[in-house]
Amino acid sequence: MQDRILIVGAGILGAALAHRLACLGAQVTVVESIAPAALATGRSFGWINASFHLSPDHYRLRLAAMAAHRALAGELDLPPATQGCLWFEETGEGFDRLDADLTALGYPVQSLTRAEVARLEPALANPPERALFFPTEAAIDPAALTIALLNAASAKGATVLSGLPVTALSTAGDTVTGITTRAGPIMVDHTVLATGTGTPALLAPLGLTFPMLHRPGAMFRSQPLPPMLSHILVTPRLEVRQDAQGRILCPTAAAHQRDSSTSLPPQETLLAETLRHLSHLLPQADIRPDTLRMAERPVPGDGLPAIGPVRPGLSMVVMHSGATLAPEAANLLAAELTGQGDQPALAPFRPARFWG
Ligand SMILES: Cc1cc2nc3c(=O)[nH]c(=O)nc-3n(C[C@H](O)[C@H](O)[C@H](O)COP(=O)(O)OP(=O)(O)OC[C@H]3O[C@@H](n4cnc5c(N)ncnc54)[C@H](O)[C@@H]3O)c2cc1C
Repeated sequence: MQDRILIVGAGILGAALAHRLACLGAQVTVVESIAPAALATGRSFGWINASFHLSPDHYRLRLAAMAAHRALAGELDLPPATQGCLWFEETGEGFDRLDADLTALGYPVQSLTRAEVARLEPALANPPERALFFPTEAAIDPAALTIALLNAASAKGATVLSGLPVTALSTAGDTVTGITTRAGPIMVDHTVLATGTGTPALLAPLGLTFPMLHRPGAMFRSQPLPPMLSHILVTPRLEVRQDAQGRILCPTAAAHQRDSSTSLPPQETLLAETLRHLSHLLPQADIRPDTLRMAERPVPGDGLPAIGPVRPGLSMVVMHSGATLAPEAANLLAAELTGQGDQPALAPFRPARFWG
């Protein structure tokens, strides 16, 4: 008999896991309280990278995830995402340090001069003196990928239930036996929490405190414009890219991957600052706001992913940089859940580190 696996949450992590498990023959149900990609995934910048990392293990996981994205695009017949990134967030020592660190790791990186940057991005008004070029980095649309993954999972027999909050986990002794919803209980062989910032509330009744950092974020989207940017740009003031529809996207915090702010300025201030930085970067462009959406980024207490067993019958898959990490986190966890043994790449990221 197939294993019955229930995934709580239809962000990019729940969707990627549902797809991989369905491909491996599991009987999958996804239960989502709002709608697919309704929270962090629908507000994400979607930059796929390993140039940012917090440890060697984290670097290896991110690198594997970049390859997993390429494989997934082939599997789902999606256009390959190959924008490349121009990084000039820092100058001087910070620039040289990142260049040296990534070169030592064997990461594809080239140091470019101002003239070379201007050739790659002619619309930039003030190209930086130097930039690091990461040719293998890319951007995806996390919400669109989530929908594509759920559709592919459904085509393989998975069931997706939206608008159905999970109110509690059902237990028998120490074992989690399924979930409770207003529509009644669903009993399964295994439950996985892909619930982002909703995770602590579901774990608390089990006596487990899952620490998460409070990291509010916001995503600016402009109305569509003619093509003017070909790469992801990481500038000292903001990250920016243009999507396939011509919209300029930027997470409004500078250095959003390392950002440690616990509060955001009022939305009108954020919007005015973002437009000011963009007009400095692209003065010729008539950038008109379309949306500014707020979201809480799901960041476990130590900044690193939490992937794997919690209790008998229960696992979790919660992290920031989930747009980057989702396909590899899903590959590894799905392998474990379908009896392929412990995946060594997950050893540094076990949730149990928070519970001793
Ligand atoms: C502004 C911003 C920019 C970002 N930029 C990047 C980037 O460039 N690159 C990158 O790699 N990452 C980026 N991230 C991070 C990335 O988007 C997230 O790590 C990722 O989307 C997390 O996906 P998720 O599926 O875990 O969480 P979510 O997308 O939050 O999904 C969790 C889902 O679980 C559901 N849920 C929660 N509780 C329950 C419950 N009790 N019952 C039923 N359903 C429940 C929620 O409704 C939600 O749909 C960014 C995030 C933000 C906010």
